[in-house]
Amino acid sequence: MKQLRTPIVSVLGHVDHGKTTLLDKIRRTRVTAKEAGGITQHIGATEIPIDLIKQICKDIWNVKVTIPGLLFIDTPGHKAFTNLRRRGGALADLAILIVDVNEGFKPQTEEAVSILRTFKTPFVVAANKIDRIPGWQSSEYAPFLKSWAQQDDFTKQKLENKIYELIGDLYRFGFSADRFDRIKDFTRTVAIVPISAITGEGIPELLMILVGLAQKYLEENLRLQVEGKAKGTILEVKEEKGLGITCDVILYDGTLKVGDTIAIAGKDDVIVTHVKGILKPRPAKEMRVESKFQSVKSVTAAAGVKLVAPNLEGVLAGSEFEAVESEEDIKNFRERVKKEYEEISIQTDEEGVVLKTDTLGSLEALINELKEIEIPIKKAEVGDVDKRDVVEASANRDELNRVILAFNVKLLPGVEEEAAKYGVRIFKEDIIYTLLDKVKQWREEEKLARERQKIEALVKPAKIKLLKEFIFRRSKPAVVGVKILAGELRKDVRLIKPDGSPAGVVRSMQKEGENVSVAKEGEELAVAIDGVTIGRHLEGDEVLYVDVPERHAKILERDLMDTLSEEAKKAFKEFLEIKRKENPFWGK
Ligand code: GDP
Repeated sequence: MKQLRTPIVSVLGHVDHGKTTLLDKIRRTRVTAKEAGGITQHIGATEIPIDLIKQICKDIWNVKVTIPGLLFIDTPGHKAFTNLRRRGGALADLAILIVDVNEGFKPQTEEAVSILRTFKTPFVVAANKIDRIPGWQSSEYAPFLKSWAQQDDFTKQKLENKIYELIGDLYRFGFSADRFDRIKDFTRTVAIVPISAITGEGIPELLMILVGLAQKYLEENLRLQVEGKAKGTILEVKEEKGLGITCDVILYDGTLKVGDTIAIAGKDDVIVTHVKGILKPRPAKEMRVESKFQSVKSVTAAAGVKLVAPNLEGVLAGSEFEAVESEEDIKNFRERVKKEYEEISIQTDEEGVVLKTDTLGSLEALINELKEIEIPIKKAEVGDVDKRDVVEASANRDELNRVILAFNVKLLPGVEEEAAKYGVRIFKEDIIYTLLDKVKQWREEEKLARERQKIEALVKPAKIKLLKEFIFRRSKPAVVGVKILAGELRKDVRLIKPDGSPAGVVRSMQKEGENVSVAKEGEELAVAIDGVTIGRHLEGDEVLYVDVPERHAKILERDLMDTLSEEAKKAFKEFLEIKRKENPFWGK
């Protein structure tokens, strides 16, 4: 059986919910038992060997182990998650979503969940800061269930309520979740582990569930990835005294050796270089030595190391690299990188918003989110917003799409002026969720405003009665007093008789000598009707209906009945009956 590689774990969550504290706590874990191997510091990551995890979890351990340990990426947060990518997804194999249990979900928590959903990354929820629950009795590093058993009922209930809230929040994102000890099938339900990053309570269960998840979900992947071509992701490009420009990288696949040639995806093209040195941090006890790094000949995934190589100037953080052995390899790598970029950026619509983001990861996450809420995308790219983006956005037919979404990028000079000129709206945010919320809200408001305009423009039903005693003129136009029995009467509408025959067009209306444009239910006023002669077409005392055009009638009947008064509704139904006597499908 091939060796399994170490799973890569990332910690995400809202600011101040405890990501850094949790990573520190895990890093500083010391176990009294001497036999357990210690924590290994990597560049940009911390490795906890499986023996140490077993020690931490010794009271509760119940899984069969096949992985060598867990590699935690030191940079916490969703930025690390979307920036650090590998072929076809996120760098991290697993994630801890940390939530301050007293505060619950916050914007960045929601963002993190949506990122995890986009990348289909298995995760555990760490419900942090349980030591802050009023009445909580802490015990250092205790498994949660042991600590739980010592709490009084009141305190327990407090925590339970908080957990239920988390379950509800996760449900909104389509995840079913529960407290870890109530879960039977971890492949269907997201585990919530109550912890304290300060006291260490719950950390045993948290680690054990991570190990379990890694083995359940990722075993196949992990097994495949330990051998073969080295593949990795650039964490950071750094000038290092005496070494020049170096790259901190996470190797997620294969084995990398000094002397290997690697191809790195650059902004415009692929950079090919060869590895001159592979450096690891020197263990703490050897820190007296002049350099903080030690040089190694080779390294196996997963690991965080510093690479020394020529030509690293143009390399960008977040790029991927791969060991190459031939021109053919380089060509394939270049094509694959290009294709992956295109796959993300080019599934676009003819008509839609313009999306600009800082990284490929955030681009992918936002594309997915926008699809979910059915906002079409015309152009999606990594980079700052420039004037061309404004032109593209302004060329949309639908005003709702004359929009630029700018995530974590700058507006280049002149863009704002240009946008104002072309009527393009720019939404610029650095939290995915805030960005989406603002756009959604704006679109809804715009839609409502339009709806209102549309309703305004519809011809509404009305039923009127001519008042024989107020015939002022018999024709051209006939002028006669009317009473509005139901609905509202406006200028320029056509009238019909109860038998469906036409009864002229309302040309103008006067009340107490003044022209009016609307007459409401119950009002009496003088109306000029064109196209009829009283005494010939009309008696002068009949009931007439507004002849609502078929298309308007259809919209009214289908969507807007609620906007009509009871009387108007009744009159409209009578009107429809008149129309449908001849043609039962009229207005349907
Ligand atoms: P980050 O922004 O997510 O990295 O959050 P930090 O790890 O910096 O934590 C923010 C604050 O919360 C710090 O003052 C921590 O000491 C505190 N904190 C973190 N975890 C816990 C915890 O479990 N219990 C308590 N009482 N405080 C915590």
